[in-house]
Amino acid sequence: MQFANVQNASHVIDLTWQNDYVFTMLTAPQAVFITTYGCQMNEHDTERMFSILEVHNYYQVTAPEDADVIIINSCSVREKPVHKVLSEIGTYKTLKAQKPHLKIGVGGCVGQQEGKKLLSKVQNLDFVFGTDTIDLLPQIIQEAQSKKNVVQTKMDHRGPYTIETMVRNTKVSAFVTITKGCDNFCSFCVVPFTRGRERSRLLSETVKDVQNLVARGVKEITLLGQNVNSYKSPDGAGDFSDLLNTICEQTELKRLRYTTSHPKDFDDKVIQAHIKHVEKLGLYLHLPVQSGSTRVLSAMNRGYTREEYLAKVLKIKKALPEIVLSTDVIVGFPTETDSEFEETLSLVRELEFENVYSFKYSPRPFTKALKYTAEEQVSEDVKDKRLYKLMDVQEEIGFKKAQTYENKTYDILVEGPSRANPQVLTGRTVHNKVVNFLGDSNLIGEIIPVKMIKSQPFSMRGEILN
Ligand code: SF4
Repeated sequence: MQFANVQNASHVIDLTWQNDYVFTMLTAPQAVFITTYGCQMNEHDTERMFSILEVHNYYQVTAPEDADVIIINSCSVREKPVHKVLSEIGTYKTLKAQKPHLKIGVGGCVGQQEGKKLLSKVQNLDFVFGTDTIDLLPQIIQEAQSKKNVVQTKMDHRGPYTIETMVRNTKVSAFVTITKGCDNFCSFCVVPFTRGRERSRLLSETVKDVQNLVARGVKEITLLGQNVNSYKSPDGAGDFSDLLNTICEQTELKRLRYTTSHPKDFDDKVIQAHIKHVEKLGLYLHLPVQSGSTRVLSAMNRGYTREEYLAKVLKIKKALPEIVLSTDVIVGFPTETDSEFEETLSLVRELEFENVYSFKYSPRPFTKALKYTAEEQVSEDVKDKRLYKLMDVQEEIGFKKAQTYENKTYDILVEGPSRANPQVLTGRTVHNKVVNFLGDSNLIGEIIPVKMIKSQPFSMRGEILN
């Protein structure tokens, strides 16, 4: 099985990353188990880790008990990330005692953020690596097999960003990274410190990557970046809208999605791209607002006002009346008052988002918001109340909006069996609405008309039209 995967992966892997390391194939296959926390970027990174490791004679297992190497791909965007990592490593204590050769490592944002400090905080940890050293993982593990406390968290802030997408088993959908890092420094966010400065891939390289994936059977791609709207090809070949247009025009892809957009950089050219290529780009936009108060937005260093956000959304809705919007909101940012929170509620009511992903503020290391004093913090109790209030308001809006889909028919890209119930197929509309329905597996990868029968909390139940 390992060698089939090695062959499968080898034609998409660029081995130039070896640099000063010596490529050494392990003699015996080793089993690797990876836990992934956080966003789609981390999921994508985990897939890259498996792909790289398979070339080096590792194979994936789905239970830590079967592993020779356990990796925790961590996230530090939300609260208590280090605690989560420590407690997961704690659960492996017995396993480590039973299998002394077992190596445990931490990667991702907590690895990048904590570095060697993590090794002094936790027993049974063998290696730590960062977000920029994933491609060195085989060498890092090999080093950890003969040496204690291996740390590799160097970050390249300036070199060209070139990366080829690695997909082991081709599915209908795939992720393609277009930028890495972020230069925005929102005052609550640790990402610029864990992912480094923003860099974009060449437009030509990205389009080629998509063409390769399409040739291997991928039908839908999600472009990934911390702020996709500030994408700029380093050779001047184009910005984000040019990338969208080129992919739509020069590939046979059926659907093209992207995340995450930044309201400050979302421009008219992207709206035009949606109008021109609506069948591929669809009618869905996730545009994180974070707060409905201009004063709080300024304290968050978001780079736009409430009025500017509203004007931008109204412009998008005018150009694309059927577009579906979702957003992110942080409640309880330090100094946020009740009336400022009310401004967020009124914005949510006015714009009627399909989904609101809401979070309580929690302090993150290195960030500017750490300067707020204890008196300036919003109490946990108030944060909870604001969060529940926001969720209540949104639940009502979301329920009302979901019902408007019932009895209508939409073209669905069939993605595969549903995770919750493998007996049914799942897919999404151009509005990014998840629909589950009965159907034959030979429909996977096709776009078919499906009638919406019933709205459910996070999806729709549908029926294929003959
Ligand atoms: S845009 Fe702001 S919230 Fe998004 S990754 Fe960059 S710093 Fe973080």
